Amino acid sequence: MKTGIVLDQRYMNHDPGARHPERPERIGVLLDGALERANVTHVEPRPASGDDITLVHGEGHFEQVARTQGLPHFAFDADTPVSSRSFETACLAAGGVLALLDAVMAGTVRNGFAAVRPPGHHAERDRAMGFCLFNNVAIGAAHLRARHGLERVLIVDWDVHHGNGTQHVFARDPGALYVSLHRYPFYPGTGALDEIGSGDGAGFTVNLPFPGGFGDAEYAEAFATVIEPIALAYAPEFVLISAGFDPHRRDPLGGMEVSEAGFAAMARTLIGVAERVAGGRCVAVLEGGYDLRATRDSARAVLDQLCGEPQPTPPPSPPSHARPILDAVRRLQGAFWKF
Ligand code: ZN
Repeated sequence: MKTGIVLDQRYMNHDPGARHPERPERIGVLLDGALERANVTHVEPRPASGDDITLVHGEGHFEQVARTQGLPHFAFDADTPVSSRSFETACLAAGGVLALLDAVMAGTVRNGFAAVRPPGHHAERDRAMGFCLFNNVAIGAAHLRARHGLERVLIVDWDVHHGNGTQHVFARDPGALYVSLHRYPFYPGTGALDEIGSGDGAGFTVNLPFPGGFGDAEYAEAFATVIEPIALAYAPEFVLISAGFDPHRRDPLGGMEVSEAGFAAMARTLIGVAERVAGGRCVAVLEGGYDLRATRDSARAVLDQLCGEPQPTPPPSPPSHARPILDAVRRLQGAFWKF
């Protein structure tokens, strides 16, 4: 069975303005064949409806974004300006994820990659922020729960920024396990170690706050010693990846040292989890990533893993410095998970 991709020129129609890092060319660099493979098939995106978006967002937020359609200039905050076609593009981003999830659930594709924008993981229930209008991954997880009857969805977010929106949507909900590796302290300020979820959701939020400068070795150690054991114990029925490529060593905003091979290794681990416990159901969704070449090459590396290509050898990297942080995560999460 083939790997599905969602990639469409219409994702360039959201224009936050010249000099904004989250620019249409982020999709443009993927449209020139970078993601074409013999064993990849395109899945046609559809616009998410109000009913889809309000699985996660308040009615008022949906309507507020909808009202920007046709306006030449509007900004939700200093980071989050929109253009006349941003609303329709955001609907197509969330809907592209839903179309891909439906294709995986129907068994028409094995797994997939959704190269969508605007990104989503900062979008809160009632607020656009941090370049994000609607929370594509959270809407996807809620869709899998509400419409496909799944009980456990794993979301792993390796974007360099903490996915505050996704965490908050599912903070009290054990039906979605949210795991984030991110630089901390950093934008948006959330994602401390002791944010572990609350009520029935306690233990179903796992934050790995990293200092700047961590690279392949630290991320690999985190996946091997914290994320994979928790993921296998949770036994998700679907694995979603918030795949931001701003931890890449060339990214202008992130300050991390991850290589393309490092992203491939993270993807390989999660695909392995999906193959062991979730029937192989795994979808990666583009979040951030602001160096065009790094984003293109990293997206390609992740897609190759979804297609079952051999894992590339990572470039030499210094030994991991993650041990103290990972020990602290294990101590705290040891109340909920065995390591
Ligand atoms: Zn980011």
